[in-house]
Amino acid sequence: MTKILPFENPIYVTRPLLPKLDEFLAIISEIWDDRWLTNNGKKHQLLEEKLKGLLKVPYLSLFNNGTIALVVGCKALGISGEVITTPFTFPATPHALAWNNLKPVFCDIDPLTMNIDAHKIEDLITSQTSAILGVHVYGTPCDVIKIQSIADMYGLKVIYDAAHAFLVEIDGVGIGNYGDLSMVSFHATKLFHTAEGGALMYKDEKLKSKIELLKNFGIKNEEEVASIGINGKMSEIHAALGLSLLKYLQQEYEARKRIANIYRERLTNVEGITLPIERLNITSSYQYFPIRINSKYFGCDRDFVYTELKKYNVFTRKYFYPLCSEYPSYKDIPSANKQNLPNAHQIVNEVLCLPIYGDLNTDTVHDICTLIHLLQR
Ligand SMILES: *Cc1c(COP(=O)(O)O)cnc(C)c1O
Repeated sequence: MTKILPFENPIYVTRPLLPKLDEFLAIISEIWDDRWLTNNGKKHQLLEEKLKGLLKVPYLSLFNNGTIALVVGCKALGISGEVITTPFTFPATPHALAWNNLKPVFCDIDPLTMNIDAHKIEDLITSQTSAILGVHVYGTPCDVIKIQSIADMYGLKVIYDAAHAFLVEIDGVGIGNYGDLSMVSFHATKLFHTAEGGALMYKDEKLKSKIELLKNFGIKNEEEVASIGINGKMSEIHAALGLSLLKYLQQEYEARKRIANIYRERLTNVEGITLPIERLNITSSYQYFPIRINSKYFGCDRDFVYTELKKYNVFTRKYFYPLCSEYPSYKDIPSANKQNLPNAHQIVNEVLCLPIYGDLNTDTVHDICTLIHLLQR
């Protein structure tokens, strides 16, 4: 029987991609020469152009982080009242609504995609509903067609938290082309990052000036402050980090793909383990590799696997446990009731994100798979 010793160094779920230091410093030295550090500088403009092309979207506005981008996006759309969203996400999603005085209404998730279940949205629409906020969890697209048709029928806006969906395309169309707006995050833990950062992607030209105003305090010109803006600007230093990472993106993406394929090969047909879905017309972001562990068939539960792997210095993550609908801030909302969210409650106790990042050694990936096999009862 294979014997595996605990790894010498901790293996985390992700590890930030970094450029060669001298390449980063070369861009930084240009910033030093210009002495322009923020407020739509040259690096900011260049990064915006490059990302617009890479993500195949007509408009893109950079932000200091994804959460502020989402807060500003909701504000720019001028929505009010209730917004139908998913409980199975990072806290930033419902918080962005709450910061806009919008009320999150939690919809259950689809057991296959783990995204908001488009078939359950209509039942939650009231006279107060103004928008649907979907999350492309782990980079798997929501049912964008069905969601848009519901929105059209009821006159609702559609917003996507695409924080995990960098580079995701459906039939060659960039994910940021769906809905009224999409947010993408450039936090250090994401596939592409600027240490802290994010962006809004959209198609409507009219949104551009609104968003640019809102992210700069609402300042229209030296004489006029036109709206209640916030400070959402990305600095030149952060933009420089993003620019210096662009050339590593393809390599990082391919390396993650190789790792995902090893997990798939080694964990397929393991009773009680469900692998993330793959679809031929959808490109993956390889942002996470979430498996689901059904204790009845696997013989032990997700928490046991999580704890045992820790003993070997492997730090998996239970994203997104607990559900947002269980937070003290949201648990008393009627839609947060457990009976309304059966799939979300089941999946949140089954999901486990395995380590995936470019310089994760493939032997280590094989060892992690062997450990999981050994844990099966
Ligand atoms: C990372 C993440 C965010 C937040 O992005 P920040 O850039 O860290 O503010 C929002 N939603 C989801 C689903 C995320 O994973």
